[in-house]
Amino acid sequence: MVRITLVRGDITAEKADAIVNAANSSLLGGGGVDGAIHRRGGPEILAACEDLRRSHYGKGLATGRAVATTAGRLAAGHVIHTVGPVWSREEDRSALLASCYSESLRTADELGARTVAFPAISTGIYGWPMDDGARIAVETVRRARTEVQEVRFVLFDEAAYEAFETAVSASS
Ligand code: ADP
Repeated sequence: MVRITLVRGDITAEKADAIVNAANSSLLGGGGVDGAIHRRGGPEILAACEDLRRSHYGKGLATGRAVATTAGRLAAGHVIHTVGPVWSREEDRSALLASCYSESLRTADELGARTVAFPAISTGIYGWPMDDGARIAVETVRRARTEVQEVRFVLFDEAAYEAFETAVSASS
């Protein structure tokens, strides 16, 4: 079973085999985690994303999917870009959010990654309520069939950290 750890901090500083980017479908950068990864990781990551757009994802990466690139100057081995769903009151998009976690772990397996760091996908600009986002993240990782040994959730603030602590205790 995957070991889940929680840390407070900035995911761009993580020394994991792979860190996950809460990207948007363009793969060409954005705000939040995405902006921070490209700023700190340097232009190599964007160049790899542009190549992927040209070669495989002309219309962009679909919501719930994941794809890996170099981590550029970051301490991590790779960046796995996944596109979270925008929160909706009218439509239940939980399966798409769960898919971000499972597809990222599948991509990590393809890379041979054993430690993977995730941010709280969709809970920033995309507006997903933190408690629910944390529950989906933890439940999906717990259920995943993966060779990844450690998933580290890197939470930016105290409220996010507490939401993940609650989700971990509820699911263990
Ligand atoms: P999304 O568009 O998927 O909502 P965001 O990047 O806006 O993605 O936010 C996702 C979560 O990541 C939010 O909870 C936000 O507070 C947090 N966050 C923002 N920057 C960082 C960072 N550098 N490291 C870790 N978490 C971050």
